[in-house]
Amino acid sequence: MRTTQDAIRHLERISVYLEVKGENPFKINAFRKAASLLEAAEVDLMDIEDFTAMKGIGKGTATVLEEFRTTGTSTALTELEQQVPEGLIALLKIPGLGGKKLAKLHEVGVIDADSFAEKLADGTVEAMPGFGKKTVEKYSKALETFETRPERLPYGVMRKSVAELERTLAEMEHIIRFEVGGSFRRAEETCKDLDFILSTERPKEVKEQLLELEQIDEIIAAGDTKVSIVLKRDDAYIAVDFRLVDDLAFASTLHHFTGSKDHNVRMRQLAKERGESISEYGVETKEGLFQPKTEEELFARYDLPFIPPELRAGRLEFEADLNTLIQETDIHADVHMHTTWSDGTLSVEELVDACAARGYSWMAITDHSKYMKFVNGLTEERLRKQRIEIEAARKKHPDMTILCGVEMDILPDGSLDYEDTFLQEMDYVIASIHSKFDQTEEEIMQRLENACRNPYVSLIAHPTGRIIGRREGYAVNIDRLVELAAETGTALEMNANPARFDLTASSLVKAKAAGVKIMINTDTHKPEMLEDMKLGVLHARKAYLEPSDVINTWTAEEARAFFERKRQGVK
Ligand SMILES: [Zn+2]
Ligand SMILES: [Zn+2]
Repeated sequence: MRTTQDAIRHLERISVYLEVKGENPFKINAFRKAASLLEAAEVDLMDIEDFTAMKGIGKGTATVLEEFRTTGTSTALTELEQQVPEGLIALLKIPGLGGKKLAKLHEVGVIDADSFAEKLADGTVEAMPGFGKKTVEKYSKALETFETRPERLPYGVMRKSVAELERTLAEMEHIIRFEVGGSFRRAEETCKDLDFILSTERPKEVKEQLLELEQIDEIIAAGDTKVSIVLKRDDAYIAVDFRLVDDLAFASTLHHFTGSKDHNVRMRQLAKERGESISEYGVETKEGLFQPKTEEELFARYDLPFIPPELRAGRLEFEADLNTLIQETDIHADVHMHTTWSDGTLSVEELVDACAARGYSWMAITDHSKYMKFVNGLTEERLRKQRIEIEAARKKHPDMTILCGVEMDILPDGSLDYEDTFLQEMDYVIASIHSKFDQTEEEIMQRLENACRNPYVSLIAHPTGRIIGRREGYAVNIDRLVELAAETGTALEMNANPARFDLTASSLVKAKAAGVKIMINTDTHKPEMLEDMKLGVLHARKAYLEPSDVINTWTAEEARAFFERKRQGVK
């Protein structure tokens, strides 16, 4: 299945290649523009009937997109890949080195990291206009730690590979237990590699099977206790370590390789206080080696409850009462979801059915607003029509409270996409930024302030605008946004989509401290995205949020009272 994200990446790749080749800027921009249009659209690639019908997408780009959708690649890119050296493209990862500079370097003979290092050392680069001594120093430094692969990958990308590997491992012979550890198990935003812990009595046989995994790009190590490989998945290289251990050491090894480093340091201190020492094999005690069967047993030895992986940061997990933290079962609603009225794949009825099946007692339908023409954003008139469909769904599910909501754009000039006279008809309004990410902090903050100060806006969605690993987001000042939200009674979102994961845990901590209420939302565009709720909850737990901090753990009545207080101007 090819996704919109894959297509965006494909277009960006083409534009980078063109830039490195020194092609005409109009041609380069056509691909860039198409990529950012697709990005803003948040629409599924497969749902686009005719690419040329999209404003801003020319014939050439449309042909590339059509070809990519059917074949997964394009003649345009394949030809470029033959013309531009791969090692040269890899240099783009060096900070401050863009396509234009790379094109100039190519002219003097740079084709990869090695030739670049040479040209830096022999003074060629320094003599080139636009480079200079400082730049050369910066690049030389970057080259020292330059790895062509693998890089840190977003959780959402890793998740697919983990699921595939788990299915494969479950079918392998001679594996007693296995589990993924590392930063993935701790549900971090990005992961450098994957660590799987496997217990077995037949390491040789397990190793042989591992070396036969599909899509292995490189075998780094193939011992009887550790197999390290690099998998190639689409555009990404994923480093995977498999640690093969005796089942008696499984729990200790899993704990050790789950980390974090800081967490493990604290654990070792606790052990030291008792004259013991913890290693990946077990606990060295006065009576000999203690090998816990489970992580619970290991924690219990130091009078600790089981500390869930997402909390293992070496911060508060040893002191805080972990029982009061929010859990997935506390969630009663999802309050940011799209339907076929804009760019979702489920109809209103299907979405309500799906939320009912998850056991929710309330929810909100929040399609895009009219500014997002590109994804069929809703005019006032269409939103009124949608209410009829929502009314029918209410009849079908009398136990479910369904809010008629909308995800309203905050326009580039800071105005909102609807007038207050219309907004007051809505049960619930989200405000979001989907355009002009390159504005100054002042401009961005003015837009967010306007939204917070509108009495009908109950939530600011995905407050940073970032897409992990692909887009930095806009120039938001989180401290100021938290202040504004607290002052105006506006909630902030914890977007559970692993590509977004904003607010981050540290920002959530600030929000909680200021008394700002949070909503954890999946921003669902297709059914499987409803499942991301659990990831959003894990991230809220990292910030030690409790149910009272999170509006979707409340009843619909409590939530409506919260929205109403802002509408009435009650502080
Ligand atoms: Zn949005
Ligand atoms: Zn949305």
